[in-house]
Parts: sequence; structure tokens; C-alpha cells
Amino acid sequence: MTNATATPPVLRLDRVSHTYSDQRRRTTVLRDIDHSFERGTFYTILGPSGSGKTTLLSLASGLDTPTSGTISFEGRDLKELGLGRYRNKHVATVFQQYNLLTYMTALQNVVCAMEITGVRPAQGSRRARALRLLDDIGLDTSMATRSVMRLSGGQQQRVAIARALACDVDILFADEPTGNLDEDTAQGIIDTFRDLAHEQNKCVVVVTHSQRLATQSDRVLTLRKGRLTEQVNRPMTAGGTRGFRGCRPPSGAGCEPVGYAGMSGRRPCVGSVARRSQPTNPASRTRPPAREPRTSPPAQPAGPDRTSAHPKGNIEAATRRMFGSRRRLWRS
Ligand code: ADP
Ligand code: MG
Repeated sequence: MTNATATPPVLRLDRVSHTYSDQRRRTTVLRDIDHSFERGTFYTILGPSGSGKTTLLSLASGLDTPTSGTISFEGRDLKELGLGRYRNKHVATVFQQYNLLTYMTALQNVVCAMEITGVRPAQGSRRARALRLLDDIGLDTSMATRSVMRLSGGQQQRVAIARALACDVDILFADEPTGNLDEDTAQGIIDTFRDLAHEQNKCVVVVTHSQRLATQSDRVLTLRKGRLTEQVNRPMTAGGTRGFRGCRPPSGAGCEPVGYAGMSGRRPCVGSVARRSQPTNPASRTRPPAREPRTSPPAQPAGPDRTSAHPKGNIEAATRRMFGSRRRLWRS
């Protein structure tokens, strides 16, 4: 393997600390956090309530700036890159409280996000693409055209996820995204996140309390007393739903697929034994052929579309592929 040190991580935190201050007291939430986040990797962050997980996401997603330390995207300090530009072009966030525009419909929320980030479908309108995305996660046209105030918590959560998926970005952050979802729907979301990382080479960072979600991620980080640590040498759960056996020894590149039982084709690896020596390039992975898409996405002509022009492909097509056989789960 070459070039492992030449490519900066997609996101890097260097000695990041954060303190909230008001007239009466100062609360230091994050202390000297050093961590690199890579493309092609699905991270989960665990930690007790109040440990600073949301704070960490808000700093990493450019919504706030750390009290000290540096956050960089592909080697560029966010201050130099510009927080607004970083937020618009490179990251999408599924907020804990969804942060939907409540005077809009679900569809308008998704279209609005595409307009702001400049995502333009190669074929069809933004509206058509947003409708397809929403439909793929189980919100049909009648739901999509309803005010978000008239949707349940779980449905609003799905709108927030569709909105993030609609913006073809490098890093997806999600703050407890499955908290309001039933098990099947939550599993669909987990699969989506994992596939975004593994098949679209995105960096996906999810804050969760769900061990089930964490065990399906590639790296599990824990935030406690202001420090971020990676769980190491955690034993792999035997079997698993996707037919994968445990991790290779430290010299290996990750987990060893036994069979392609699911969409992403990788068994979660946790800890240092699963650490890859360099960012994973999905194109270089040997994997069985992808499952047939539910409907063949139309050929993407060359054009100004950021999504189709993206070297890692069309997020919409991938989403449709991901949810193809799972649609019934989203109909509940
Ligand atoms: P978590 O997401 O892990 O539950 P948070 O990041 O929301 O934790 O909060 C971490 C700590 O920082 C908590 O003690 C919380 O009260 C405090 N905190 C969060 N936001 C603010 C703020 N804007 N001003 C002051 N304190 C805050
Ligand atoms: Mg929180």
C-alpha cells in the first residue's frame, strides 16, 4: 500500500477543547480531543447523557467553533475554508431535534436543502428527486406533501434523514437518529449509513445510545469526561446478521466477508484490530456484485450536477438500491 500518509483524513480534530461560559460558571465539556475521521468508515460515538456528544458534533459540523484547538477538512483548517462553505458543501447533519422547517411540507424541506446546497439532479427536477428519496424511506406522496407538523416523530426523523441524504456531501453527521424509530425502521437507517460509508466512500459519524447500532459500525468511540477514546479489542459478536466472521489480526485490512448477505457486505469491526492502514477505497474492494436495484436508475448524462459528477456516484441511486427490498419495512 502506498500513499497512506499523503492523503489527509477527511476530518481531523487537533487538541480540540470546548468550554461553555456564562456569568456564573464555566463548563469544560471537551478536553484536548485528537482524532482523525476517514472516508469509507462508519463511526459511532457513545457516551453518557451530558458528556458532550452533541457539542462535539456541532463543532465537527461547523456549527460552532472550539474554544481551542483546530478542526480541519481534508487538511484545511475550517476557519480558513470558511464555516459556511464547509456546512453547505461538505457536511450534512441529522439533528437530534430534527430542525425541520415546520411551516413547510416534508417535500419542501428536502427540496429546500437541495437548493441551499446547490444539488441539481441530472434528470428531472429537484422535486421529483426529493419525492423519490422520501418514497424510498417510506414516505409516499401524500405524506411528503403534508406539513411536517402533521407527521409523527418517527416520520419527521425520516424527513430529516432524507434531507441529509439529498445533499451529496463528504461527511454525514447524525445525532441519535434512530431514537424515535421502531426496530425495523432503525435497522433500515443503520444499513443506509453503513452503505453510505462503504459504497459511497462517505464518512458517517453517528451519535447514539444504541449498542445495536454501535456494534454495526466500523469504529466505536466513547466520549466520557471530555475525552474521546476508541473502544479496543472488543470481541466480535459471533455470527451476526450478515454472515461475517471476526476481524483479521492487526496486520489485516479489516474484516473478512464470508458472504454477501446484506447491502453493505462488511461485518462491523470494532477497535484496533479492525483498524485499516489507510482510507478505504470502495472501488478497490473485492466484493460480490451489488444487488439488483429496484428500478434501474436512468443513465446520468454528463452535466453540471454535483451529485452525478461526484466520483463516488449518485447518492439517490444508492439510496434506492439500499431500500429496494426493504420498502415494506418503511410502510408501517
Ligand atoms: P450530550 O449530547 O452528550 O448529552 P451536550 O453536548 O448536549 O451533551 O452537553 C454537554 C454539556 O454541556 C452539558 O452539561 C450541557 O448542559 C452543557 N451545554 C450544552 N450546551 C450548552 C450551552 N449552549 N451553554 C451552556 N452549557 C451547555
Ligand atoms: Mg445530545
